[in-house]
Amino acid sequence: MARQKFICGNWKMHKTVAEATALVKELADGLAGDARVQVAVAPTFTALAAVGAAVRGTPLELAAQDVHWEVQGAFTGEVSAPMLADVGVRHGIVGHSERRQLFGETDETVRRKVGALLAAGIRPIVCVGELLAEREAGRTLEVVSRQVRGGLAGLSPDVLMAVTVAYEPVWAIGTGKTATTAQAQEVHASIRALLRELGGAPAADAVRIQYGGSVKPENAAELLSQPDVDGALVGGASLKAKDFLAIVKGALR
Ligand code: PEP
Repeated sequence: MARQKFICGNWKMHKTVAEATALVKELADGLAGDARVQVAVAPTFTALAAVGAAVRGTPLELAAQDVHWEVQGAFTGEVSAPMLADVGVRHGIVGHSERRQLFGETDETVRRKVGALLAAGIRPIVCVGELLAEREAGRTLEVVSRQVRGGLAGLSPDVLMAVTVAYEPVWAIGTGKTATTAQAQEVHASIRALLRELGGAPAADAVRIQYGGSVKPENAAELLSQPDVDGALVGGASLKAKDFLAIVKGALR
């Protein structure tokens, strides 16, 4: 069975509540709601509840940009998975390269966050990707494989199916540089082979592997036409309704 494409907008540290709900309205007005593509947006924590209310009854789903692995407690500044579920979050991004590079995220914290999300009924989007120096040293597949193994360690095959992996070469995030379709497909196919090793063929066939890194209307359709590219995690281009809707359209071609 064909995997449903999955496009998620990562709004990062952008948009007030009013701006976020206005963007959701524009997106909802422009989305046809097609079973071939699932669409989610990940606003900041402060806008989650309002955006959660705004997406109700639309084809849009709510995602969070991060989570803490504990359920509650003395963790100043953190937000737990049950708290995210409480405001309607369905997907949780973990291991984004900005969190790995700027906030000390490791494969081990990613693994704990994946477990916390799953326990709260939220589907993780696990980001992996190599630095430019790692690609130039020929270490891309080794780095990505270490991140996938580390982040997904210990998941049974039927649980693994609920996970989305986002391959985001760090050198392509927010830089305007995009991996070529061949570069993306090569890494996606190797992730799929690794998933087969970790969870067997049914899990590997079910897991969506998104591409992320300067996805825009001009390159989305070609990237998404690759056999192992099952969607996109979109940063900058998800902040404008027209661009994000054009990317979603690219998934339908
Ligand atoms: C991202 O942050 O996940 C991302 C892919 O950003 P951009 O699309 O801006 O490169």
